[in-house]
Amino acid sequence: MAQAVKRLFPDVKLGTGPAIERGFYYDFQRKEPFTPDELIKIENEMRNIIKENYRIERIEKNKEEAKEILKYEPFKLEIIDEIEDEMVSFYKQGEFIDLCEGPHLNSTGEVKFFKLLFVSSSYWRGDEKRESMQRIYGISFETKEELENYLKFLEEAKERDHRVLGKKLDLYSIHPEYGPGLIFWHPKGAIVRKIIEDFWKEVHLNNGYELVYTPHIADISLWEKSGHISFYSEYMFPKMEIDQEKAYQLKPMNCPFHIQIYNSKLRSYRDLPIRWAELGTVYRYEKPGVLHGLLRVRGFTQDDAHIFCTPEQIEDEVCKIIDLVYFFLKSFGFNEYKVFLSTRPEKFVGSIENWERATKALQNALNTKNIAYEIDPGEGVFYGPKIDIKIKDCLGREWQCSTIQVDFNIPEKFDLKYIGSDGSFKVPILIHRAILGSLERFFGILIEHYKGNFPLWLAPEQIRILPIAERHNEYCINLKNRFEKEFRIGIDLRNEKINKKIKEAEDEKVPYMIIIGDKEIKEGKLSLRKHGKGMIGILNFEEIENILKEEVKNRK
Ligand code: ZN
Repeated sequence: MAQAVKRLFPDVKLGTGPAIERGFYYDFQRKEPFTPDELIKIENEMRNIIKENYRIERIEKNKEEAKEILKYEPFKLEIIDEIEDEMVSFYKQGEFIDLCEGPHLNSTGEVKFFKLLFVSSSYWRGDEKRESMQRIYGISFETKEELENYLKFLEEAKERDHRVLGKKLDLYSIHPEYGPGLIFWHPKGAIVRKIIEDFWKEVHLNNGYELVYTPHIADISLWEKSGHISFYSEYMFPKMEIDQEKAYQLKPMNCPFHIQIYNSKLRSYRDLPIRWAELGTVYRYEKPGVLHGLLRVRGFTQDDAHIFCTPEQIEDEVCKIIDLVYFFLKSFGFNEYKVFLSTRPEKFVGSIENWERATKALQNALNTKNIAYEIDPGEGVFYGPKIDIKIKDCLGREWQCSTIQVDFNIPEKFDLKYIGSDGSFKVPILIHRAILGSLERFFGILIEHYKGNFPLWLAPEQIRILPIAERHNEYCINLKNRFEKEFRIGIDLRNEKINKKIKEAEDEKVPYMIIIGDKEIKEGKLSLRKHGKGMIGILNFEEIENILKEEVKNRK
């Protein structure tokens, strides 16, 4: 692709072009973005290069020679200066030569089926203070069938894009001019969130948790003590200076607050485990380039909880959390999971002995629950090992939501203690956990998973009553009043054709429609229609009420 771009647009400067999880990209410096027509031209030139079937050679040069070869490519020169080795490797095909560690194919003729997908703008090195670049994404496969399947998958993913559906269904908005990555929940999105929150709180209260609420800001000294200033400052919003002596910090995590509650009085081993849950809103200063709809944001509400327990209780507590995770994920329609155990990273705090004990406890819990898992070596958090649970959505995409982290560092830092059964002071273990991850992100995943067709228990508007003519309106208003006690119900009293009313309710993905005309009123029955399925039948009020109640209750 880079060779084709250089042939067609010789003035374009080359950035870098790695292979990524799905396909590849290349960054080019050019004022205007590449147009769709230009992408087609580039694809055609790529086909020429494949036909010309150049041998791809690896060449090694010392740095001086390397700089001579790439003297007109300023970004490449920058990279060469940063390479520590004496020798620099190149790959050459035809007239084109590029820096690369390799390996590459043997010849350009080995490239089979490919497609350039889209263009986005980026910054050199992802740094907004550096030059802006034009990034072209592409994909390639060995067979035509694989390429076609992938393009179909992309098409399907596009139709499910939560940013498009979020707007179409009036669920939320973002106003970048007043803060990129900050979510405004509209009434229809907010009602879904309220249902999730109520369900979440009820289940937690029934499972031995207590609810807490904590502030959004705290004195900077709290964050110095917790280690966030040293380990996490790049993700924190700049501090708020109140005067020369005082500065406050928006919270990026809830933990230090829950710890203050723990430390507000003396605890005994009889009090443990203590389980505190909070839907805690946190702020993280994500780079503008990575923000993405609801999935990557700067302000979000974690479904957070902290468990304070004795070392002997870790395994049992982790088993309980795993049960809770699976219960929630299943309730939201996710039945396939991938579980990872992340172990000690290179930079860590605490003793190796503690790390091993905590890792073993997590492992034992997974074995007790008979859960297959993969080990993610070195991917633990600096304060302890963790279990991550990824869900698979209906397109087979994986999303990381739930995390369970064992921490023996923060309890020591904040001098947490409890009186043990022998009367001496001991340090409790802290378990951090989130199940849905963040409400914003989870909502985004739900929108895509369901394609905006929320199951009845979550749907913002569960039923819409559609009178056929104006003379049926009054009857319908009475009907609405009867349903209102149990359901979120709408009514379309406009003087419009019934087909138009149905189409709009379908477009707005309302799960059920009740249609009322002369016949229904005369028989005292209701015509029930289901979104995407059409007419279900003519039923009486109680029958419909029971069917729908059952569907809500079972979270079908
Ligand atoms: Zn925490």
